[in-house]
Amino acid sequence: MEALKQKIRQDGIVLSEQVLKVDAFLNHQIDPALMQQIGHEFARRFAGQGISKIVTIEASGIAPAIMAGLELGVPVIFARKYQSLTLKDDLYISKVFSFTKQTESTIAISAKHLTASDHVLLIDDFLANGHAAQALIDLIQQAGASIAGIGVVIEKSFQSGRAELDGQGYRVESLARISSLKNGQISFLD
Ligand code: 5GP
Repeated sequence: MEALKQKIRQDGIVLSEQVLKVDAFLNHQIDPALMQQIGHEFARRFAGQGISKIVTIEASGIAPAIMAGLELGVPVIFARKYQSLTLKDDLYISKVFSFTKQTESTIAISAKHLTASDHVLLIDDFLANGHAAQALIDLIQQAGASIAGIGVVIEKSFQSGRAELDGQGYRVESLARISSLKNGQISFLD
């Protein structure tokens, strides 16, 4: 997606060889017009797949997920993060290791919002090592729902998440694919 790549080139800040800061337009200050285009592009790529729900994780996945939900005309569920959580019957619960915070947290979705009849599009802002995606897949599987695919705004293709999800047979659609952040430079895959 060219407009997104342009914005990343213009406003993205390389914090290290592993981390890109995009808080000028994606996950702190948000560019609504760009976010609308992102939602449109996800909807275009996953049109006609029978998607009934979008699932994401708070907080940074919510904006792109809502825009895609608006375009596809389906509800958006965001998994909530908890410091700790005791097991409850009405929640699907999983654990996720945070790439940026380097801590583990518990995430949960209320069982009343996700059922076995749902066909889910999973959306997140970044794909790095795939921990967030795997935890969301776990929640969706607990519900017995099926997965149409995974939509990612920015994929860092040099980290392991993409290859693992491909290996598990999931369809992954990334709107920008970064091949390297070496020497403070942002290089794209395609
Ligand atoms: P993963 O779980 O795939 O290892 O990492 C994805 C999650 O970590 C995303 O939900 C995102 O919030 C965060 N993340 C991963 N890499 C980056 C990055 O380079 N920059 C920012 N801002 N967040 C990242």
